[in-house]
Amino acid sequence: MQFDYDDQNIFAKILRGEIPNSTVFENEHALAFKDIAPQAPVHVLVIPKGAYVSIDDFAANARADEQAGFFAAVAAVCEMSDVAQGFRAVANTRTHGVQDVPHFHMHIIGGNQLGRMLP
Ligand code: 5GP
Repeated sequence: MQFDYDDQNIFAKILRGEIPNSTVFENEHALAFKDIAPQAPVHVLVIPKGAYVSIDDFAANARADEQAGFFAAVAAVCEMSDVAQGFRAVANTRTHGVQDVPHFHMHIIGGNQLGRMLP
């Protein structure tokens, strides 16, 4: 599958420092920051620094060190957030998945009891 990355998406602008963000963790390959419209007490977005459109793009095409760095950031966010009782990790993807920002991001959502994933 062909993945065409638009470098004008809002998370690309955040990575370039053109738009401010509330960073909670950063390493060589990933950035984690608070969602601007939180759906729960904990709502953090973890994004790779590389230009990947979606989770399937990232899984298929990111190098092993990029994937390790991304999941190290996920682990760090979970460790530092109030999610010991659980959380939801979500990667909305393309049209059917209702993905608004076309740069792969994983939502880490928790801090209270969530509802069922799908109605
Ligand atoms: P998606 O629907 O693509 O999975 O989720 C995109 C998420 O990005 C939404 O939860 C939205 O609130 C968040 N978002 C959109 N623009 C910004 C922004 O400029 N800054 C931050 N921190 N989050 C944003």
